Amino acid sequence: MEATEKKYAALTQGFVDRLNHSYDSRRDHLLTLRKLILENENKILEALEEDLGKSRFEGVISETLFLVKEIDFSLKKLKKWMKKKRVSTPFLQFPARSFIVPEPVGVVLIISPWNYPFQLLISPLIGALAAGNTAILKPSEVAPAVSSVIAELVPKYFSEGIVGVVEGAIAETQALLDLPFQHIFYTGNSHVGRIIMEKAAKHLCPVTLELGGKSPCFVDKDNDLQLVARRLMWGKFFNTGQTCVAPDYVLVEEETQAALIEAMKKALAEFFPFGAKDSPDYGKIINERHFNRLESYLEESEIEYGGERDKSKLYFSPTLLKATESSKSMKEEIFGPILPIIKVKNFDEALSFIRRRPHPLAAYAFSRNGKLLNRFCDEVTAGGMCLNDSLVHLTSETLPFGGVGESGMGAYHGKKSFDIFTHYKSVMKRGLFIDLPVRYPPYKGKENLIRRLLNWLG
Ligand code: NAD
Repeated sequence: MEATEKKYAALTQGFVDRLNHSYDSRRDHLLTLRKLILENENKILEALEEDLGKSRFEGVISETLFLVKEIDFSLKKLKKWMKKKRVSTPFLQFPARSFIVPEPVGVVLIISPWNYPFQLLISPLIGALAAGNTAILKPSEVAPAVSSVIAELVPKYFSEGIVGVVEGAIAETQALLDLPFQHIFYTGNSHVGRIIMEKAAKHLCPVTLELGGKSPCFVDKDNDLQLVARRLMWGKFFNTGQTCVAPDYVLVEEETQAALIEAMKKALAEFFPFGAKDSPDYGKIINERHFNRLESYLEESEIEYGGERDKSKLYFSPTLLKATESSKSMKEEIFGPILPIIKVKNFDEALSFIRRRPHPLAAYAFSRNGKLLNRFCDEVTAGGMCLNDSLVHLTSETLPFGGVGESGMGAYHGKKSFDIFTHYKSVMKRGLFIDLPVRYPPYKGKENLIRRLLNWLG
């Protein structure tokens, strides 16, 4: 663990020496990151394919290009975000000026999971660098090809005083967590989220926790079911269902269930005309442990579609289940290519079904009825929401992305990524030419005067 401490020391020194403090240095580091991605895009996409069987198209839109777009957005806004902001000053403090000054917090730690192993590590780094910090990256050991590409590339592009990488599993992460960072940004499951928070408390270190959960989807009867099915199947089976905001289960009224399932089957047949197994557009399950976990969800439910699998290739076909509230697939986050479809009596029952459960990371509803969608928006608490589509809300720089309650705390993307790693310092600068004696001791007889003065000032 000596190497980890050395990396931490170099980054602390880098922060003390303000190597990433000025506008020019932050811009240069963002441009370096952009270069790292574009010059090595093929290598990154190949590693994603090795770990997850991720198709080039999905790799580009959800990892490399996604990040380049985010960097470009930050570069465009950086000057504005960094500006100190003048705010008003109470008259009583006259003469004075007040400012809010954004400043970096220090050395930050970013820990990422395996499902979007490049994007989920680099996206917070964009915010950390834009905000003027130095950072240690801890990629997921569960996606080893991407982890080693990151460990190889980062030192080639960044000096040890700006960004460091520590590879490894639990022991290495725990050793990192013993160090006094100024912010920890963790993406992963809520069990580890709790460990992170406990460890961070020792150093009074603020945390951002990007967690998961069961994201519900309600499909109303008033719909173009084929369009709904296409959008839903795409969001569910993108990255082989291994997406934190993938629709986890569908609630649908009894009279619509059969038609919806037919539309879903048709959409899947269009996506994978020769079956998903040999399709270059369909990936694999990350490892055997997750494969076995997913297999267990098939118990106690009626398989409506799919269910084929080949453990030797970690292939698990897109699978639709007819399930109930008590099915095994409804006990925990699925995080794979299985979609339970549960019938409800009506919209109100669906709302109560969702509200009885922990707040999800995302919630979805499809309907042509605007009033129904408004009610869904008003009555369901979730990290984020997408109405009449799935997943795409998180591609917007103007929408903060994060969870609530069990699905996490803190949000990022766009300006929010800058804010997470920024301390907004309040500064008042007083003039020296007037000095009202009323505040100084002896106080005797001054209370009434100060009351009258404050009253007069409103
Ligand atoms: P994972 O197993 O890769 O773990 C995530 C990170 O935690 C890794 O870097 C790992 O080394 C570290 N870790 C694991 N155990 C640890 C321990 N005991 N102590 C300290 N560190 C430890 O990924 P995962 O947790 O399986 O990720 C899947 C979960 O992440 C799902 O619940 C998913 O919904 C959630 N997720 C959330 C988002 C989001 O943006 N909110 C994105 C992706 C995934």
